[in-house]
Amino acid sequence: MPHPSTTLIIGAGLSGLTAACELAAAGKRVTVLEQEGERNLGGQAFWSFGGLFLVNSPMQRRMGIKDSLELAMQDWMGTAAFDREEDYWPRKWAEAYVTFAATEKYEWLKARGLRYFPVVGWAERGGYGAIGHGNSVPRFHVTWGTGPGVVAPFIQLAQEAVTKGLIDFRFRHRVDELEIINGAVKGVRGSILRASAAVRGAHEPATVTGDFHFEASQVIITAGGIGGNHDLVRANWPSRLGKAPQHLLSGVPQHVDGRMLGISQQAGARIINPDRMWHYTEGIRNWAPIWRQHGIRILPGPSSIWLDGGGKRLPAPLFPGFDTLGTLDYLMHSGYEHSWFILDQPIIKKEFALSGSEQNPDLTNKQWRQVLKRAVGKRATEPVEAFKEKGPDFIVAGGLSEMVDRMNALNNGVPLHYTDIFAQLHARDAQLDNKFCKDAQIMAIRNARQYLGDRLIRTAPPHKILSQTPLIAVKLHILTRKSLGGLATNLDSQVLNADNQPIGGLFAAGEAAGFGGGGMHGYRALEGTFLGGCLFSGRVAGRAAVKG
Ligand SMILES: Cc1cc2nc3c(=O)[nH]c(=O)nc-3n(C[C@H](O)[C@H](O)[C@H](O)COP(=O)(O)OP(=O)(O)OC[C@H]3O[C@@H](n4cnc5c(N)ncnc54)[C@H](O)[C@@H]3O)c2cc1C
Repeated sequence: MPHPSTTLIIGAGLSGLTAACELAAAGKRVTVLEQEGERNLGGQAFWSFGGLFLVNSPMQRRMGIKDSLELAMQDWMGTAAFDREEDYWPRKWAEAYVTFAATEKYEWLKARGLRYFPVVGWAERGGYGAIGHGNSVPRFHVTWGTGPGVVAPFIQLAQEAVTKGLIDFRFRHRVDELEIINGAVKGVRGSILRASAAVRGAHEPATVTGDFHFEASQVIITAGGIGGNHDLVRANWPSRLGKAPQHLLSGVPQHVDGRMLGISQQAGARIINPDRMWHYTEGIRNWAPIWRQHGIRILPGPSSIWLDGGGKRLPAPLFPGFDTLGTLDYLMHSGYEHSWFILDQPIIKKEFALSGSEQNPDLTNKQWRQVLKRAVGKRATEPVEAFKEKGPDFIVAGGLSEMVDRMNALNNGVPLHYTDIFAQLHARDAQLDNKFCKDAQIMAIRNARQYLGDRLIRTAPPHKILSQTPLIAVKLHILTRKSLGGLATNLDSQVLNADNQPIGGLFAAGEAAGFGGGGMHGYRALEGTFLGGCLFSGRVAGRAAVKG
């Protein structure tokens, strides 16, 4: 039984670790309850690409990018599009988080040893106008060491606190019940699960070997979102995005099961914005899966031609990497859940990145020599070339006719016609005969290449695709990832009840709290904002719990 003054933290992902480190730094005792084994310490963040949203950072300035708090706030609010009464606290969290990203975040992480790949990435480019969705400038900073590089300093701090007797990790401890009496938390009950030899990320069977009951006057919920539970994703699917998809890939391990959210709600906590989720439309089946229905997200540059499942080119500005939610909305109303990228070797070489630490061994293992290969030669990174060769969604063909034949074998019985696809590609290619044109995607490519980072490693020079050999087609699936809604919290991370009143001693952070407030992203994200959201809200929750 933990000491009576101990704060219990449910979940040992990045947000839980951050909160635990804050408490330990103030000399407080913490017990971290984690349903998975020790191998999974760090949760999803370990698997992440380590992309962090920073505003007006030294790396941006070095790349000649002019950014500011004002511009970032405008982008965030245009992207979030808050429009509900319950967005009161989410909006406050958004303001606090963007301010953090523009001020303290860089130095705070630098003091913990975080460093970045020098070329800042440009995610969610928008395309609607200055005050609409999207990043006006590149802000996606890839951590040197990717996800493991983000988590490592917090694991190290936590381990130091373990040796001092301040943090106690209880792995294979699954919380099944929150005890809330007279509006205040009193403790948790749960099951002890059998230890498992499963590798990190693989499903650990939940065989119950015992139970536990820990009393505590402070509990922090950092149990993650719902992306690994497709039933919950479908149950929360908003009608504005059409019918819930029948076929989904999982971009997260199975422990992202959403179960703790239901348990919290049953105990009286308020969940808001459960219909706001962040799923990707560029998912590919992993040829070497670790978890069930394991999919990988392509982080695309802007040049691939994007066709829906019926073979029709997506409308402007739904170009690769411009508007994730807008593309999902379009696809879900197109009659087809899947879609296609058509491209060639120069585009795949320069523009295909795969999200995830294990898909970027050069950056994850901090191997400069390997990283430099991204900028030279004709081959894409090894993991991308491996997908080209072994991925079930990749077609590499000698010409368009062969490619369309092979696409038809994967197109769920819907015929694609060579003449239609040829006509669209031919018309697009003809727009390159002048330095100016009316094709919005080509204009966007030319704009992207005004940014040094894109010109160096992210955007291929505009060129005719039909004259290239080989041609490449990639079948894309919807891939679940993040929950944007969650437990409603005030600016002190206190969980609110149905009457919007704080539940005594109960806090929440990270994805479980919609990264703060119950949905600081609103409807859409600017990317790199989830890890940062865990760090920020974990820090706020930890500090609030220190105050008690
Ligand atoms: C492949 C991949 C790439 C990504 N790339 C990026 C990126 O580049 N930038 C970015 O900002 N974000 C990225 N993300 C998202 C980001 O990693 C996550 O949103 C974030 O790490 C979530 O952290 P968390 O602490 O809130 O939850 P989690 O990491 O999900 O941790 C929650 C923990 O709680 C445990 N738990 C759940 N229920 C219970 C219970 N009842 N009892 C005990 N324990 C419980 C779980 O087992 C888990 O370990 C990526 C995610 C993935 C998977």
